[in-house]
Amino acid sequence: MSERGTIAIPIAIIGAGSTGLAAAIALAKRGFDVRVFERAERLDALGAGITLWSNALCVLRELGVAERLIARADPLVRGETRRVDGSVLAAFEFVGLAREFGAPCIAVHRGVLQEELLRACSAPIEFGAELVNVREGSGGVELEFGGGRRERAALVIGADGVRSRVRAVLGGEEPVYSGYVAYRAVQAFSRELVPSGLAFETWGAAKRFGALRLDAENVYWFAALDAPRDSSDTRRRETLLAHFGGWHAPIRELIESTPEQNVLRHDVIELARPAELARGRVALAGDAAHAMTPNLGQGACVGLEDALVVARAIERRGATAEALASYARARRARVERVARDSRRAGRWGQIENPALRWMRDAALASVARPLLARMVRKTLADGIASLTALD
Ligand SMILES: Cc1cc2nc3c(=O)[nH]c(=O)nc-3n(C[C@H](O)[C@H](O)[C@H](O)COP(=O)(O)OP(=O)(O)OC[C@H]3O[C@@H](n4cnc5c(N)ncnc54)[C@H](O)[C@@H]3O)c2cc1C
Repeated sequence: MSERGTIAIPIAIIGAGSTGLAAAIALAKRGFDVRVFERAERLDALGAGITLWSNALCVLRELGVAERLIARADPLVRGETRRVDGSVLAAFEFVGLAREFGAPCIAVHRGVLQEELLRACSAPIEFGAELVNVREGSGGVELEFGGGRRERAALVIGADGVRSRVRAVLGGEEPVYSGYVAYRAVQAFSRELVPSGLAFETWGAAKRFGALRLDAENVYWFAALDAPRDSSDTRRRETLLAHFGGWHAPIRELIESTPEQNVLRHDVIELARPAELARGRVALAGDAAHAMTPNLGQGACVGLEDALVVARAIERRGATAEALASYARARRARVERVARDSRRAGRWGQIENPALRWMRDAALASVARPLLARMVRKTLADGIASLTALD
Protein backbone atom coordinates (compact mmCIF):
# COMPACT_ATOMS: atom_id res chain seq x y z
CA MET A 1 0.00 0.00 0.00
CA SER A 2 1.31 3.45 -0.78
CA GLU A 3 1.72 6.02 1.96
CA ARG A 4 -1.20 8.41 2.33
CA GLY A 5 -0.52 11.59 0.41
CA THR A 6 2.11 10.05 -1.87
CA ILE A 7 1.27 9.86 -5.56
CA ALA A 8 2.48 6.39 -6.41
CA ILE A 9 0.98 6.21 -9.88
CA PRO A 10 1.07 9.10 -12.36
CA ILE A 11 -1.74 7.68 -14.54
CA ALA A 12 -4.00 4.77 -13.58
CA ILE A 13 -6.20 3.04 -16.14
CA ILE A 14 -9.05 0.92 -14.84
CA GLY A 15 -9.86 -1.99 -17.17
CA ALA A 16 -7.74 -3.88 -19.72
CA GLY A 17 -10.34 -4.11 -22.48
CA SER A 18 -9.54 -2.70 -25.91
CA THR A 19 -10.06 0.91 -24.69
CA GLY A 20 -7.90 0.60 -21.58
CA LEU A 21 -5.09 -1.24 -23.37
CA ALA A 22 -5.11 1.23 -26.26
CA ALA A 23 -4.93 4.19 -23.84
CA ALA A 24 -2.05 2.51 -22.00
CA ILE A 25 -0.13 1.92 -25.25
CA ALA A 26 -0.73 5.48 -26.48
CA LEU A 27 0.39 7.00 -23.16
CA ALA A 28 3.41 4.73 -22.74
CA LYS A 29 4.51 5.61 -26.29
CA ARG A 30 4.45 9.26 -25.24
CA GLY A 31 6.71 8.52 -22.28
CA PHE A 32 4.07 8.62 -19.53
CA ASP A 33 4.25 6.37 -16.53
CA VAL A 34 1.00 4.45 -16.60
CA ARG A 35 -0.40 1.40 -14.80
CA VAL A 36 -3.43 -0.69 -15.75
CA PHE A 37 -5.67 -2.36 -13.16
CA GLU A 38 -7.84 -5.22 -14.38
CA ARG A 39 -10.46 -7.04 -12.34
CA ALA A 40 -10.08 -10.38 -14.15
CA GLU A 41 -7.30 -12.78 -13.15
CA ARG A 42 -6.30 -13.05 -16.82
CA LEU A 43 -7.64 -12.01 -20.22
CA ASP A 44 -9.38 -14.93 -21.90
CA ALA A 45 -10.37 -14.82 -25.58
CA LEU A 46 -14.05 -14.28 -24.79
CA GLY A 47 -16.72 -12.98 -27.16
CA ALA A 48 -17.02 -13.44 -30.89
CA GLY A 49 -16.14 -11.36 -33.94
CA ILE A 50 -15.63 -7.64 -34.03
CA THR A 51 -15.63 -5.28 -37.00
CA LEU A 52 -12.88 -2.68 -36.98
CA TRP A 53 -13.56 0.13 -39.43
CA SER A 54 -11.06 2.54 -40.99
CA ASN A 55 -11.37 4.97 -38.05
CA ALA A 56 -10.23 2.22 -35.67
CA LEU A 57 -7.45 1.11 -38.03
CA CYS A 58 -6.09 4.69 -38.06
CA VAL A 59 -5.79 4.51 -34.26
CA LEU A 60 -4.39 0.97 -34.31
CA ARG A 61 -1.81 2.00 -36.90
CA GLU A 62 -0.59 4.76 -34.62
CA LEU A 63 -0.40 2.25 -31.76
CA GLY A 64 1.71 -0.05 -33.94
CA VAL A 65 -0.74 -2.97 -34.05
CA ALA A 66 -2.65 -2.42 -37.31
CA GLU A 67 -0.34 -4.35 -39.62
CA ARG A 68 -0.33 -7.46 -37.45
CA LEU A 69 -4.12 -7.36 -37.19
CA ILE A 70 -4.51 -6.87 -40.94
CA ALA A 71 -2.24 -9.86 -41.53
CA ARG A 72 -4.45 -12.02 -39.29
CA ALA A 73 -7.79 -10.87 -40.73
CA ASP A 74 -9.79 -11.55 -43.84
CA PRO A 75 -10.14 -8.15 -45.58
CA LEU A 76 -13.70 -6.83 -45.87
CA VAL A 77 -14.58 -5.99 -49.46
CA ARG A 78 -18.36 -5.59 -49.76
CA GLY A 79 -21.21 -5.14 -47.27
CA GLU A 80 -24.79 -6.08 -48.14
CA THR A 81 -28.14 -5.51 -46.44
CA ARG A 82 -30.45 -8.26 -47.69
CA ARG A 83 -34.09 -9.33 -47.76
CA VAL A 84 -34.96 -12.72 -46.29
CA ASP A 85 -34.91 -14.25 -49.80
CA GLY A 86 -31.29 -13.13 -50.19
CA SER A 87 -31.91 -10.29 -52.65
CA VAL A 88 -29.85 -7.19 -51.96
CA LEU A 89 -31.57 -4.12 -50.48
CA ALA A 90 -28.46 -1.98 -50.19
CA ALA A 91 -24.72 -2.47 -50.52
CA PHE A 92 -21.52 -0.59 -49.99
CA GLU A 93 -17.87 -1.23 -50.80
CA PHE A 94 -15.48 -1.54 -47.88
CA VAL A 95 -12.61 -1.30 -50.36
CA GLY A 96 -13.75 2.17 -51.42
CA LEU A 97 -13.66 3.24 -47.77
CA ALA A 98 -10.17 1.79 -47.39
CA ARG A 99 -8.99 3.80 -50.40
CA GLU A 100 -10.65 6.97 -49.22
CA PHE A 101 -9.42 6.83 -45.65
CA GLY A 102 -6.08 5.12 -46.23
CA ALA A 103 -6.94 2.33 -43.80
CA PRO A 104 -8.95 -0.86 -44.40
CA CYS A 105 -11.96 -2.26 -42.57
CA ILE A 106 -11.37 -5.69 -41.06
CA ALA A 107 -13.11 -8.18 -38.81
CA VAL A 108 -11.24 -10.23 -36.24
CA HIS A 109 -12.02 -12.38 -33.25
CA ARG A 110 -12.18 -10.18 -30.17
CA GLY A 111 -9.47 -12.38 -28.65
CA VAL A 112 -7.13 -11.54 -31.55
CA LEU A 113 -7.58 -7.79 -30.97
CA GLN A 114 -6.93 -8.29 -27.27
CA GLU A 115 -3.86 -10.43 -27.93
CA GLU A 116 -2.28 -7.87 -30.27
CA LEU A 117 -3.00 -4.96 -27.92
CA LEU A 118 -1.54 -6.91 -24.99
CA ARG A 119 1.58 -7.70 -27.02
CA ALA A 120 2.06 -3.98 -27.79
CA CYS A 121 1.41 -2.80 -24.23
CA SER A 122 4.61 -2.05 -22.37
CA ALA A 123 2.80 -0.58 -19.35
CA PRO A 124 2.43 -2.87 -16.33
CA ILE A 125 -0.97 -4.56 -15.97
CA GLU A 126 -2.15 -5.78 -12.58
CA PHE A 127 -4.66 -8.57 -12.87
CA GLY A 128 -7.10 -9.49 -10.12
CA ALA A 129 -7.31 -5.79 -9.13
CA GLU A 130 -10.98 -4.82 -8.85
CA LEU A 131 -11.58 -1.14 -8.32
CA VAL A 132 -14.33 -0.54 -5.76
CA ASN A 133 -14.03 3.17 -5.09
CA VAL A 134 -12.39 6.29 -6.43
CA ARG A 135 -12.21 9.62 -4.62
CA GLU A 136 -10.54 12.83 -5.68
CA GLY A 137 -8.65 14.71 -3.00
CA SER A 138 -6.29 17.64 -3.09
CA GLY A 139 -3.67 16.94 -5.75
CA GLY A 140 -4.56 13.35 -6.48
CA VAL A 141 -7.12 10.57 -6.73
CA GLU A 142 -7.44 7.81 -4.17
CA LEU A 143 -8.23 4.40 -5.58
CA GLU A 144 -9.63 1.60 -3.45
CA PHE A 145 -9.48 -1.99 -4.63
CA GLY A 146 -11.11 -5.18 -3.39
CA GLY A 147 -9.39 -6.46 -0.25
CA GLY A 148 -8.98 -2.89 1.04
CA ARG A 149 -5.81 -2.04 -0.90
CA ARG A 150 -5.42 1.68 -1.64
CA GLU A 151 -3.34 3.58 -4.18
CA ARG A 152 -3.03 7.21 -5.14
CA ALA A 153 -2.83 8.39 -8.74
CA ALA A 154 -2.41 11.77 -10.40
CA LEU A 155 -5.02 10.91 -13.06
CA VAL A 156 -7.49 8.08 -13.53
CA ILE A 157 -9.01 6.83 -16.78
CA GLY A 158 -12.02 4.62 -16.19
CA ALA A 159 -12.15 2.15 -19.09
CA ASP A 160 -14.04 -0.46 -17.10
CA GLY A 161 -16.82 -1.24 -19.52
CA VAL A 162 -20.58 -0.92 -19.72
CA ARG A 163 -21.13 -1.59 -15.99
CA SER A 164 -18.30 0.78 -15.02
CA ARG A 165 -17.62 1.18 -11.33
CA VAL A 166 -15.82 4.46 -12.00
CA ARG A 167 -18.95 5.83 -13.73
CA ALA A 168 -21.16 4.63 -10.87
CA VAL A 169 -18.98 6.39 -8.28
CA LEU A 170 -19.18 9.59 -10.32
CA GLY A 171 -22.98 9.30 -10.18
CA GLY A 172 -23.44 8.18 -13.81
CA GLU A 173 -26.50 6.33 -15.00
CA GLU A 174 -27.02 2.61 -15.31
CA PRO A 175 -27.33 1.07 -18.79
CA VAL A 176 -30.79 0.43 -20.24
CA TYR A 177 -32.09 -2.52 -22.26
CA SER A 178 -32.49 -2.02 -26.01
CA GLY A 179 -35.39 -4.51 -26.30
CA TYR A 180 -33.42 -7.14 -28.23
CA VAL A 181 -30.93 -9.89 -27.58
CA ALA A 182 -27.83 -10.73 -29.63
CA TYR A 183 -26.85 -14.31 -30.48
CA ARG A 184 -23.28 -14.71 -31.75
CA ALA A 185 -20.90 -17.49 -32.71
CA VAL A 186 -17.51 -18.06 -34.34
CA GLN A 187 -17.21 -21.35 -36.16
CA ALA A 188 -15.07 -22.91 -38.90
CA PHE A 189 -16.79 -22.89 -42.31
CA SER A 190 -15.53 -23.24 -45.87
CA ARG A 191 -15.09 -20.35 -48.30
CA GLU A 192 -17.68 -22.01 -50.52
CA LEU A 193 -20.29 -21.43 -47.82
CA VAL A 194 -19.17 -17.95 -46.75
CA PRO A 195 -16.85 -16.32 -49.29
CA SER A 196 -13.97 -14.01 -48.43
CA GLY A 197 -14.63 -10.31 -48.24
CA LEU A 198 -18.43 -10.37 -48.04
CA ALA A 199 -20.35 -9.24 -44.96
CA PHE A 200 -24.14 -9.56 -45.10
CA GLU A 201 -26.93 -8.60 -42.73
CA THR A 202 -30.44 -9.78 -43.54
CA TRP A 203 -33.48 -7.92 -42.21
CA GLY A 204 -36.82 -9.55 -41.36
CA ALA A 205 -39.66 -8.63 -39.00
CA ALA A 206 -38.03 -7.49 -35.73
CA LYS A 207 -35.11 -9.82 -36.39
CA ARG A 208 -31.80 -9.78 -38.23
CA PHE A 209 -29.13 -12.28 -39.13
CA GLY A 210 -25.62 -11.53 -40.40
CA ALA A 211 -22.34 -13.26 -41.17
CA LEU A 212 -18.82 -12.53 -42.32
CA ARG A 213 -15.52 -14.35 -42.57
CA LEU A 214 -12.86 -13.59 -39.93
CA ASP A 215 -9.96 -15.52 -41.47
CA ALA A 216 -9.18 -18.52 -43.67
CA GLU A 217 -10.91 -20.84 -41.23
CA ASN A 218 -13.51 -19.01 -39.18
CA VAL A 219 -16.83 -17.31 -39.82
CA TYR A 220 -18.55 -14.95 -37.38
CA TRP A 221 -22.35 -15.00 -37.45
CA PHE A 222 -24.79 -13.03 -35.37
CA ALA A 223 -28.53 -12.56 -34.94
CA ALA A 224 -30.76 -10.03 -33.18
CA LEU A 225 -34.22 -10.89 -31.84
CA ASP A 226 -36.72 -8.91 -29.78
CA ALA A 227 -37.04 -10.51 -26.32
CA PRO A 228 -37.94 -9.56 -22.74
CA ARG A 229 -35.04 -8.33 -20.60
CA ASP A 230 -33.13 -11.00 -18.65
CA SER A 231 -34.92 -13.81 -20.46
CA SER A 232 -32.97 -17.05 -20.91
CA ASP A 233 -32.79 -19.53 -23.76
CA THR A 234 -31.51 -23.04 -23.14
CA ARG A 235 -32.16 -24.16 -26.73
CA ARG A 236 -30.50 -21.40 -28.68
CA ARG A 237 -30.09 -23.18 -32.00
CA GLU A 238 -33.69 -24.36 -31.90
CA THR A 239 -34.85 -20.79 -31.31
CA LEU A 240 -32.67 -19.48 -34.12
CA LEU A 241 -33.78 -22.18 -36.55
CA ALA A 242 -37.42 -21.39 -35.76
CA HIS A 243 -36.79 -17.72 -36.62
CA PHE A 244 -34.21 -17.93 -39.39
CA GLY A 245 -34.30 -21.51 -40.69
CA GLY A 246 -36.40 -20.50 -43.72
CA TRP A 247 -34.20 -17.55 -44.69
CA HIS A 248 -31.74 -17.54 -47.58
CA ALA A 249 -28.68 -19.81 -47.73
CA PRO A 250 -26.35 -20.29 -45.94
CA ILE A 251 -28.18 -19.15 -42.79
CA ARG A 252 -29.75 -22.52 -41.89
CA GLU A 253 -26.44 -24.33 -42.36
CA LEU A 254 -24.52 -21.79 -40.27
CA ILE A 255 -26.90 -22.31 -37.36
CA GLU A 256 -27.24 -26.10 -37.74
CA SER A 257 -23.49 -26.70 -37.98
CA THR A 258 -22.55 -24.61 -34.93
CA PRO A 259 -22.51 -26.55 -31.65
CA GLU A 260 -25.02 -25.26 -29.09
CA GLN A 261 -22.26 -24.44 -26.58
CA ASN A 262 -20.59 -22.09 -29.09
CA VAL A 263 -23.65 -19.86 -29.39
CA LEU A 264 -23.42 -16.79 -27.13
CA ARG A 265 -26.52 -14.87 -26.12
CA HIS A 266 -26.62 -11.43 -24.44
CA ASP A 267 -29.16 -8.72 -23.76
CA VAL A 268 -28.10 -5.70 -25.80
CA ILE A 269 -27.73 -2.83 -23.32
CA GLU A 270 -26.57 0.74 -23.79
CA LEU A 271 -26.30 4.02 -21.94
CA ALA A 272 -29.35 6.15 -22.71
CA ARG A 273 -26.91 9.07 -23.06
CA PRO A 274 -23.13 9.24 -22.78
CA ALA A 275 -21.84 9.89 -19.27
CA GLU A 276 -19.87 12.97 -18.25
CA LEU A 277 -16.50 12.20 -19.86
CA ALA A 278 -14.31 13.92 -17.28
CA ARG A 279 -14.65 15.28 -13.80
CA GLY A 280 -11.54 16.77 -12.28
CA ARG A 281 -8.76 14.21 -12.49
CA VAL A 282 -11.02 11.30 -13.46
CA ALA A 283 -12.05 10.54 -17.05
CA LEU A 284 -14.23 7.86 -18.63
CA ALA A 285 -13.51 6.19 -21.97
CA GLY A 286 -14.98 3.45 -24.15
CA ASP A 287 -18.09 1.59 -23.02
CA ALA A 288 -17.72 3.04 -19.52
CA ALA A 289 -18.49 6.43 -21.06
CA HIS A 290 -20.81 5.62 -23.96
CA ALA A 291 -21.81 1.96 -24.27
CA MET A 292 -23.87 1.85 -27.45
CA THR A 293 -25.91 -0.71 -29.37
CA PRO A 294 -23.81 -2.75 -31.83
CA ASN A 295 -25.81 -1.81 -34.93
CA LEU A 296 -23.05 0.23 -36.57
CA GLY A 297 -20.24 -2.03 -35.30
CA GLN A 298 -18.58 1.07 -33.86
CA GLY A 299 -18.50 0.62 -30.04
CA ALA A 300 -14.92 -0.62 -29.79
CA CYS A 301 -13.81 1.65 -32.67
CA VAL A 302 -15.04 4.76 -30.85
CA GLY A 303 -13.40 3.51 -27.63
CA LEU A 304 -10.11 3.30 -29.53
CA GLU A 305 -10.61 6.88 -30.74
CA ASP A 306 -11.15 7.94 -27.09
CA ALA A 307 -7.93 6.21 -26.07
CA LEU A 308 -5.80 8.07 -28.59
CA VAL A 309 -7.46 11.44 -27.96
CA VAL A 310 -7.09 11.23 -24.17
CA ALA A 311 -3.39 10.36 -24.62
CA ARG A 312 -2.94 13.29 -27.00
CA ALA A 313 -4.67 15.64 -24.56
CA ILE A 314 -2.37 14.51 -21.75
CA GLU A 315 0.66 14.89 -24.02
CA ARG A 316 -0.38 18.46 -24.73
CA ARG A 317 -1.40 19.61 -21.24
CA GLY A 318 0.36 17.15 -18.95
CA ALA A 319 -1.26 14.81 -16.42
CA THR A 320 -3.73 17.46 -15.31
CA ALA A 321 -7.46 17.99 -14.92
CA GLU A 322 -7.24 20.49 -17.80
CA ALA A 323 -6.06 17.72 -20.12
CA LEU A 324 -9.09 15.59 -19.21
CA ALA A 325 -11.45 18.55 -19.63
CA SER A 326 -9.98 19.16 -23.08
CA TYR A 327 -10.45 15.44 -23.93
CA ALA A 328 -14.09 15.64 -22.81
CA ARG A 329 -14.75 18.71 -24.96
CA ALA A 330 -13.17 17.05 -27.98
CA ARG A 331 -15.16 13.83 -27.65
CA ARG A 332 -18.64 14.81 -26.47
CA ALA A 333 -20.37 15.52 -29.77
CA ARG A 334 -18.65 12.61 -31.52
CA VAL A 335 -19.70 9.92 -29.05
CA GLU A 336 -23.23 11.30 -28.76
CA ARG A 337 -23.66 11.18 -32.51
CA VAL A 338 -22.40 7.63 -33.05
CA ALA A 339 -24.47 6.30 -30.13
CA ARG A 340 -27.58 8.02 -31.50
CA ASP A 341 -27.01 6.80 -35.07
CA SER A 342 -26.41 3.29 -33.81
CA ARG A 343 -29.66 3.32 -31.81
CA ARG A 344 -31.54 4.60 -34.88
CA ALA A 345 -30.02 1.91 -37.10
CA GLY A 346 -31.21 -0.68 -34.57
CA ARG A 347 -34.75 0.72 -34.60
CA TRP A 348 -34.78 0.50 -38.39
CA GLY A 349 -33.42 -3.02 -38.35
CA GLN A 350 -35.89 -4.24 -35.70
CA ILE A 351 -39.10 -2.83 -37.27
CA GLU A 352 -41.94 -5.36 -36.93
CA ASN A 353 -44.96 -3.62 -38.48
CA PRO A 354 -45.34 -4.99 -42.07
CA ALA A 355 -46.34 -1.63 -43.62
CA LEU A 356 -43.43 0.17 -42.01
CA ARG A 357 -41.10 -2.63 -43.06
CA TRP A 358 -42.31 -2.38 -46.62
CA MET A 359 -41.65 1.37 -46.58
CA ARG A 360 -38.24 0.87 -45.01
CA ASP A 361 -37.23 -1.73 -47.59
CA ALA A 362 -38.54 0.35 -50.49
CA ALA A 363 -36.59 3.36 -49.23
CA LEU A 364 -33.44 1.31 -48.70
CA ALA A 365 -33.65 -0.13 -52.19
CA SER A 366 -33.97 3.33 -53.74
CA VAL A 367 -33.52 6.79 -52.20
CA ALA A 368 -31.97 5.65 -48.93
CA ARG A 369 -29.27 3.59 -50.65
CA PRO A 370 -26.84 6.46 -51.23
CA LEU A 371 -27.81 7.92 -47.85
CA LEU A 372 -26.71 4.73 -46.12
CA ALA A 373 -23.34 4.77 -47.87
CA ARG A 374 -22.98 8.47 -47.05
CA MET A 375 -23.78 7.83 -43.39
CA VAL A 376 -21.12 5.11 -43.15
CA ARG A 377 -18.53 7.41 -44.78
CA LYS A 378 -19.47 10.30 -42.51
CA THR A 379 -19.15 8.13 -39.40
CA LEU A 380 -15.61 7.19 -40.40
CA ALA A 381 -14.59 10.64 -41.65
CA ASP A 382 -15.84 12.31 -38.44
CA GLY A 383 -14.03 9.72 -36.34
CA ILE A 384 -10.74 10.26 -38.11
CA ALA A 385 -11.11 14.05 -37.96
CA SER A 386 -11.95 13.82 -34.25
CA LEU A 387 -8.55 12.27 -33.52
CA THR A 388 -6.88 15.66 -33.97
CA ALA A 389 -9.71 17.92 -32.82
CA LEU A 390 -8.30 18.95 -29.44
CA ASP A 391 -8.55 22.62 -28.47
C1 LIG B 1 -23.22 -8.10 -29.69
C2 LIG B 1 -22.16 -7.07 -29.78
C3 LIG B 1 -21.45 -6.90 -30.97
C4 LIG B 1 -20.48 -5.88 -31.08
N1 LIG B 1 -19.82 -5.72 -32.25
C5 LIG B 1 -18.92 -4.71 -32.39
C6 LIG B 1 -18.23 -4.51 -33.62
O1 LIG B 1 -18.41 -5.25 -34.58
N2 LIG B 1 -17.35 -3.46 -33.71
C7 LIG B 1 -17.11 -2.61 -32.64
O2 LIG B 1 -16.31 -1.69 -32.78
N3 LIG B 1 -17.75 -2.81 -31.46
C8 LIG B 1 -18.63 -3.82 -31.30
N4 LIG B 1 -19.25 -4.02 -30.10
C9 LIG B 1 -18.93 -3.12 -28.98
C10 LIG B 1 -17.63 -3.52 -28.31
O3 LIG B 1 -17.67 -4.86 -27.93
C11 LIG B 1 -17.40 -2.65 -27.08
O4 LIG B 1 -17.65 -1.31 -27.40
C12 LIG B 1 -15.95 -2.77 -26.60
O5 LIG B 1 -15.60 -4.11 -26.36
C13 LIG B 1 -15.77 -1.95 -25.34
O6 LIG B 1 -14.42 -2.04 -24.93
P1 LIG B 1 -14.01 -1.40 -23.53
O7 LIG B 1 -12.54 -1.68 -23.41
O8 LIG B 1 -14.47 0.00 -23.45
O9 LIG B 1 -14.84 -2.23 -22.45
P2 LIG B 1 -14.71 -3.78 -22.09
O10 LIG B 1 -14.31 -4.59 -23.25
O11 LIG B 1 -15.99 -4.15 -21.40
O12 LIG B 1 -13.50 -3.84 -21.05
C14 LIG B 1 -13.65 -3.39 -19.73
C15 LIG B 1 -12.60 -4.08 -18.88
O13 LIG B 1 -12.66 -3.54 -17.56
C16 LIG B 1 -12.61 -4.59 -16.62
N5 LIG B 1 -13.29 -4.13 -15.41
C17 LIG B 1 -14.63 -3.97 -15.22
N6 LIG B 1 -14.89 -3.50 -14.00
C18 LIG B 1 -13.69 -3.36 -13.38
C19 LIG B 1 -13.31 -2.90 -12.08
N7 LIG B 1 -14.23 -2.50 -11.18
N8 LIG B 1 -11.98 -2.89 -11.76
C20 LIG B 1 -11.05 -3.29 -12.68
N9 LIG B 1 -11.35 -3.73 -13.92
C21 LIG B 1 -12.67 -3.76 -14.28
C22 LIG B 1 -13.31 -5.74 -17.30
O14 LIG B 1 -12.95 -6.99 -16.73
C23 LIG B 1 -12.83 -5.58 -18.73
O15 LIG B 1 -11.62 -6.27 -18.97
C24 LIG B 1 -20.20 -5.04 -29.97
C25 LIG B 1 -20.89 -5.22 -28.77
C26 LIG B 1 -21.85 -6.23 -28.67
C27 LIG B 1 -22.58 -6.39 -27.36
